[in-house]
Amino acid sequence: MIKRLGKIFWDYLRSGVGLLFPRVCVVCGDVLVRGERFMCSGCLCRMPLNEGADEGADERMKEVLDAENLFWLFTYNRESDFHQLIYAIKYKSRRELGVWAGRMLGERIGTGHGIDCVIPVPLHPAREKERGFNQSLAIGTGIAGVLGVKIVPDVLERKENTRSQTGLSREERADNVMKAFRLTDPGRLRGCHVLLVDDVLTSGATTKACLAELRKIEGVRCSVACLGKAGKI
Ligand SMILES: [Zn+2]
Repeated sequence: MIKRLGKIFWDYLRSGVGLLFPRVCVVCGDVLVRGERFMCSGCLCRMPLNEGADEGADERMKEVLDAENLFWLFTYNRESDFHQLIYAIKYKSRRELGVWAGRMLGERIGTGHGIDCVIPVPLHPAREKERGFNQSLAIGTGIAGVLGVKIVPDVLERKENTRSQTGLSREERADNVMKAFRLTDPGRLRGCHVLLVDDVLTSGATTKACLAELRKIEGVRCSVACLGKAGKI
């Protein structure tokens, strides 16, 4: 009886909160209906998804990164309202949204690539403290859950608090981040196929810097996954 009353009270409370603070679509802002989570079905339908499950379409990016596979969920464009998805994960501390989007990407990657573990692109500890969490870790957690592999957030670390990338030229970005990462315990990943995960791939400078470090690991193979990828690099 007490349990049942508790449930009624909880449902009542939840519907009241729902009326006061309705859940809205992270992309268009419309109120979500039952069964929808984070994004309305209209936005899910028109999302500019990467339809080729594997990545061969972007030879230039593969060439720049020299990665075994390159996976991305959707084409990223700052003019498109889908950039809100990344913005909300990154700047509105929507950790659970990051995990959810990571799961969506994980389902598209699938288990056929022999990936052994997921490595999120690290944030400098000061930046992580300020933001509350690392968005790449949230996305990577979603991917690793679907692939059934471990997530290893402590083998690659960021040693320099690089200044903001916004407004820098491609060369300045590359210079800024190239020496920003280091390995802490490379032996743990010897012979592994690692999947490096970031939120957005634009110039590829951060990814390239991380890959340069990861390649120092004996027998390692590297693939890359991100939620959004800019159309051109
Ligand atoms: Zn929507």
